[in-house]
Amino acid sequence: MALISFGSTADLAEGQRRKNGLSLPLHYIQLLGIIFMLFLILMNYLTLCVNIPTHPWQWLSIVISSVIILPFLTMFIIITCLDPAEDTVINLNRGPKANFDRRLHGHVITNLYCNICEVQVTSNAKHCSACNKCVYSFDHHCIWLNTCVGGKNYRIFFSMLIFIVIGTLFTFINSLLQFIGTFQDSSSAISLKPFYSADQYAILMIPSSKIAFQVISAVIAVISLVAFGMTGYLFAFHIYLCYNHTTTYDFVVSRRHDRTVDQTLLQFNQINRNKNSELTDTTRQSSTFSKFFPLKRKNNRIANSKDQESNQTANGKIFTVEENSDTPRRIQMSQNQLLLFDAIEKGHTSIVLKLLRNQFNINVKDIHGRTPLMIAAKNGRSDIVKILLDYIGAANIETDIGGKTALHYAAENSELSVVKILSKHQSASMAMTTTQTQLLPLDYALGNQNIYASLNKYSQGGQVSAGETDDDDDAPKAGIYVKSKKKGSGKKKGGKKSGSKKKKKGGKKKK
Ligand SMILES: [Zn+2]
Ligand SMILES: [Zn+2]
Repeated sequence: MALISFGSTADLAEGQRRKNGLSLPLHYIQLLGIIFMLFLILMNYLTLCVNIPTHPWQWLSIVISSVIILPFLTMFIIITCLDPAEDTVINLNRGPKANFDRRLHGHVITNLYCNICEVQVTSNAKHCSACNKCVYSFDHHCIWLNTCVGGKNYRIFFSMLIFIVIGTLFTFINSLLQFIGTFQDSSSAISLKPFYSADQYAILMIPSSKIAFQVISAVIAVISLVAFGMTGYLFAFHIYLCYNHTTTYDFVVSRRHDRTVDQTLLQFNQINRNKNSELTDTTRQSSTFSKFFPLKRKNNRIANSKDQESNQTANGKIFTVEENSDTPRRIQMSQNQLLLFDAIEKGHTSIVLKLLRNQFNINVKDIHGRTPLMIAAKNGRSDIVKILLDYIGAANIETDIGGKTALHYAAENSELSVVKILSKHQSASMAMTTTQTQLLPLDYALGNQNIYASLNKYSQGGQVSAGETDDDDDAPKAGIYVKSKKKGSGKKKGGKKSGSKKKKKGGKKKK
């Protein structure tokens, strides 16, 4: 195994995990950081401080820098030696099953179970590919420390950042003043009184020329200024994250998705800019639009349902689908709509919301005649199902080319929470049958007791009272965007069996 790693990947031996910042291989950035850190500390004490021996500033300088450097070094040692992994991972006496490979392992953690560490993990855990372990309340993997920053060491990391920012700023000011001081005559207030003699300065306590001291103090000033800039930026970023109650990981992931949406919206706009259609509700739509898409120009148009077809022709692929009737129907899937389907499948609630708020047409079907609602039902995205129902309206029940409704899909895939929502909001679909096989949603639920019981309850008991909270009692699908919802307080009327935990797909995705 290599002693020093130059890549972003783990370079760990098969089945190994990184315990802390000292686990081999060390990262070259980590070594670079340590070298610069030691350089600045040594230069501070043995060069900057010694050249002002008669001045009280020397003692002040030593005291101030020690007040910064000593706590910083303590925190640096602690964070380097600490293992931020999940407790279940630390308690294992064996390594992970395999090395994490992003291409091979799409879903490392499913249902709070890590398939590589082979342990149960807590809800904010992520499997770090560089450390090959599950990290408690993961924030990011820091290559400067060569360890993960997470729930167990975030406070130390944050405090350390404060000390580095102050320390590098102090070193910068100190070295700059000394650099300027060498050019002043002896009457000036910031004139230096060199350590050895009038022209003998000290570098690392070794007598040196004035020019050598000027060069070295300039070098220190540049390095500390760069370090101050970088850490100051990082510090500001983490203040922003704390203020928004988010993590580096979630921030990066959400930015990536926002970019995808924005790119799609840009394409969307370009198509619509060529159209002459007028908006029916200009003020409302443009304000919604500019809120979500600041790149928009004045003449952008938002597709309303009337000019939807021509927009799609301009943009998308065209599929032809045979429906139940004999009339062939052209189904056009623009990239925007593909994105909507993709976002639903992956459970990216915020993207779905963004698309819907931007007046994307959701009355679209894929080549199997499936609507966005069916895709959401099939994948058990109960929160997205609710959102879509708000937009579609409860009465509007669509079927695919085989005559299946969204409820059929939910029942088929044993998605209990979706079954509950749909049987409540689209109760008419409980009586709908598929075209050829004449199967009710209930027939699709025969394999699953809970689903069957729930459907049976709704179909026999008929009306669901308005106050019933059946569809709220399951935790939302844990897409990364999903904020926790308040749990339904209500007692169930009896349909739900509490024995089986609902399957949660997708949840915490890969790292
Ligand atoms: Zn893991
Ligand atoms: Zn890591």
